[in-house]
Amino acid sequence: MSGNDDVRVRFAPSPTGALHIGGAHTALFNWLWARHNGGSFILRVEDTDRERSTAEYERTIMDGLRWMGLDWDEGPDIGGAWGPYRQSERLERYSACARDLLDQGRAYREGDAVIFRIPRDREMVLHDMIYGDINIQSDRASMNPDGSVKDIVIMKSDGMPTYNYAVVVDDHDMNITCVIRGEDHISNTPKQMLLYDAFGWKLPQFAHLPMILGADKKKLSKRHGATSVFDYSDMGYLPDAIFNFLALLGWTAGNGVEIFGRRLATERFELTKVTKKAAVFDMDKLNFVNQEHLKGLDPASRREIIEPLWRELGLCPERHGKKYLEDALSLMGGRGRTTKELAEFSDYFVDFEPVKHRYDASEITDARRPAMRKFAETLVGSPEWEASKMEELARRWCESSGTPLKEVAMPLRWALTGRKVSPGVFEVAELLGRDECRARLAHYGFVE
Ligand code: GLU
Repeated sequence: MSGNDDVRVRFAPSPTGALHIGGAHTALFNWLWARHNGGSFILRVEDTDRERSTAEYERTIMDGLRWMGLDWDEGPDIGGAWGPYRQSERLERYSACARDLLDQGRAYREGDAVIFRIPRDREMVLHDMIYGDINIQSDRASMNPDGSVKDIVIMKSDGMPTYNYAVVVDDHDMNITCVIRGEDHISNTPKQMLLYDAFGWKLPQFAHLPMILGADKKKLSKRHGATSVFDYSDMGYLPDAIFNFLALLGWTAGNGVEIFGRRLATERFELTKVTKKAAVFDMDKLNFVNQEHLKGLDPASRREIIEPLWRELGLCPERHGKKYLEDALSLMGGRGRTTKELAEFSDYFVDFEPVKHRYDASEITDARRPAMRKFAETLVGSPEWEASKMEELARRWCESSGTPLKEVAMPLRWALTGRKVSPGVFEVAELLGRDECRARLAHYGFVE
């Protein structure tokens, strides 16, 4: 699908690492703006750093985008009308444009390198859609440490273009209407504006996205641990949750709506509503968003996501029917912030083994055992194996024997789940079934 030409935006990663959170955020905002407008989202690979760029990183970045559900309309893998989309395949074009600047006297040679002459005493205004108007003086666009004007290298002696130069040629050639990228590029923009001017090309719009900070209020970086989107996948975060969470970094859907999917975000997204205030990457918020998306999954998808994680825990979900596993996960009712936690917290539905490992007999005093034995016999003999009926039976039994309900419910929960916290224990019992409950209770000597 290729959209209208009024909105053409691009994500331009350098394939020198995996798709990290900052890159994913930039890609997402570009994608949202393209989709909101029915425009085009272009993937351009900026691989002029030949030593650090690899085909493998290019693939992982694409995989990361796909994982997040961000599809592109033009790119190195699918082509398009304005390609090639890999800078290493555009070298002739950069040389040709550099020759133009040389011919016009806007650039000069220094050895094999081409240097762009920074015009002096020029007042410019960067109209940023997010940061507002920024006044710039050309002399300050590129400076030496002592404050003197520093002309900029556009072609290096090895024949490779520099970032600030190639980005201008490409954004122009690819008809990019709006450059959306991280705020760390604001300082590069004046240099790029001077190049547009030298070529006599129309400027695109610029929209710089707010900085993302870690919980310590320092710029998000490798120091903050997980960096690649796949690290978050491994930790049990859903792609839809990462999408939702990243969209909230610098933008809101309005009306207090915090949990949303692609449709709503695409409909409501506005670049002008993005704030310039630095956004904090808040793990608690991410957990909340992820939990809500987990809850919102349909039962079959949730089971498909959790099944492999149960297997990783050494459990065998294939021993059960799909419906049973889906009911078990529904019964978990939002417990577990990540898919990993959900798989772990619900392990006792799949198998008794993990329960045995956790069960702590010392939690049940000897004094309580005789009552527990009588209660367990009554329970497994319940005429109807239905949670509300069992609970009623339990209440009646406790009343007549003068035992507080929790004195039997707690050991029962321990025996069935090996956990102190679980969904309603009678609901758990109902789903496990009478035979399984009898077997578990028998294992601990509560029933014959
Ligand atoms: N390759 C540059 C980067 O990854 C692109 C910056 C831009 O979008 O202009 O930072």
